[in-house]
Amino acid sequence: MILNGKQYADELRNVLTKQCTNLKSTYGRAPSLHVLLIGNNPASLVYVSMKQKRAQDFGIQATIHKLDKEISKETLLNLIHELNKNTEVDGILVQLPLPPHLDANEIIDTISPEKDVDGLTSINLGRLLRGTATLMSCTPLGCMHILRQWKPDISGLHAVIVGRSTLVGKPLALLLTQANATVTLCHSKTHNLETHTKQADIIIAACGSPKLIRKEHVKPGACIIDVGINRLDDGSLTGDVAFDEVVHLAGAITPVPFGVGPMTIAYLMSNTIQAMKNTYEK
Ligand code: NDP
Repeated sequence: MILNGKQYADELRNVLTKQCTNLKSTYGRAPSLHVLLIGNNPASLVYVSMKQKRAQDFGIQATIHKLDKEISKETLLNLIHELNKNTEVDGILVQLPLPPHLDANEIIDTISPEKDVDGLTSINLGRLLRGTATLMSCTPLGCMHILRQWKPDISGLHAVIVGRSTLVGKPLALLLTQANATVTLCHSKTHNLETHTKQADIIIAACGSPKLIRKEHVKPGACIIDVGINRLDDGSLTGDVAFDEVVHLAGAITPVPFGVGPMTIAYLMSNTIQAMKNTYEK
């Protein structure tokens, strides 16, 4: 079973577009997303323009703030404070990575938790731990959506995550735990990775290491979600899973591209709509 993230994202877009239309007719404006892009990191430029384009497809108003890479912390924090106060701004996202003179945690924690569409503020991460968050990291939400297409109930299954970042691995471990999976969280210091992954009913690869997960890592019939996006020297994209090697062994698998990527974007739009509801419907 190929888990077609592009198809799931298109289906979700149909639902979310209707919600945008309803919000616009109720409140007189579409949901709005403000993206702060600091500097000229080429990958960030691509990601931000893609987010803007996809926002239009959903009926969301996206504004990109292109800021100089030398911007002072004070100027950046003032801009975030202004956006926090502006009732016509729903979602705020700071594109990472930041230039070295800026502390990402401090900048992100300045965003109002009600507008934090990446779910990365300390408050939203704490709410996630408690199970009370309304805004959570988009990629883990996308992974959970994909898993529900494979099996609506993953209660009791063993999920092994490879990667423990604050953006993907750790929040996903919490969401999987809330869904009653038994979770193992692996990372670069894990000994004998394959002894863990080989026992998994669900493998989630989110380590940024091209084709790390090979056939010896996979139990026959396992569901494999490949979060990785790695650009190889020849310019091609590959995931953290050796797709061709494991596709016939796995019970279900996401491709790269068109797997987790489109779901991440769809959940960014879902979070922006939620952020507008946080403003008007609290
Ligand atoms: P980070 O670099 O922040 O984290 C990588 C994690 O993987 C770390 O916890 C690291 O361990 C672990 N790791 C690295 N190498 C190995 C290894 N050989 N064995 C076991 N664990 C390893 O990455 P992100 O979480 O931000 O992203 C991970 C991947 O997902 C990247 O390819 C990224 O491009 C992609 N991505 C894709 C998205 C999508 O929408 N599809 C969205 C976000 C990310 P340690 O903590 O010990 O260093």
